[in-house]
Amino acid sequence: MKVLQKGFNYSQDGPGNRLVYHLQGCNFACKWCSNADSIPLENPKAKEVPADEIFDEIMRSRPMFFDGGGVTFTGGECTLHFGELLPLFKRLRGAGVSVCAETNGSHPDLRLLAEYIDCLIIDCKLTDDEAHKKYTGASNRKTLENIEFFLRSGRELHIRIPLINGVNTGARDFAEYFSRFDTSHCDFEFLPYHEFGKDKWQDKYEMTDAFVSAETVGEFERIFNEYGLKTVKT
Ligand code: SF4
Repeated sequence: MKVLQKGFNYSQDGPGNRLVYHLQGCNFACKWCSNADSIPLENPKAKEVPADEIFDEIMRSRPMFFDGGGVTFTGGECTLHFGELLPLFKRLRGAGVSVCAETNGSHPDLRLLAEYIDCLIIDCKLTDDEAHKKYTGASNRKTLENIEFFLRSGRELHIRIPLINGVNTGARDFAEYFSRFDTSHCDFEFLPYHEFGKDKWQDKYEMTDAFVSAETVGEFERIFNEYGLKTVKT
């Protein structure tokens, strides 16, 4: 699979200290993406690494997986590498390694992969499909279908919502949508817009006035809690 970058990170990409692989390629093109260089399927900076090598590297790294850590696959969109990830995740499960995946939730067979994922993080950007297409270039239909499947199935789920001014700051719309389900096994995290990856877009970056205030983040937390939805900060 194509690895754009890798490194250790503590707590923000799943519990504990984790070896995080950023895989190349994404089927969305969110206008605020902070890893725009990970969107194209091809990137000369990404390195093709056989899954066996990745497995061995993960096994060698186990002493670093402290505080409940393990390995995390993100992107880009890691599930574009589904064919290699499924057997790799099965091997890692067999070896007792904690696997986390952060995904945009759009893969039609995500539920097969999810059987071997200990910590599943799905990003939910918008509930309205037309707006989702406008800002990400893709439909959210599969993402919402998958989220609804996992909410109904009772598996643990961590949903991340990027907060982008002028795009998705209707807290009540999100809360009303999620409160239709049993979310007792799910938590929500809000990621305020930032521009740390702006330079990776070079002259194509379109976002302006997209920052949200601390008050807006607080309002999301208050409204979600009002609807009985558990919120977390990592
Ligand atoms: S889904 Fe994630 S990686 Fe893909 S374009 Fe959107 S923010 Fe970037």
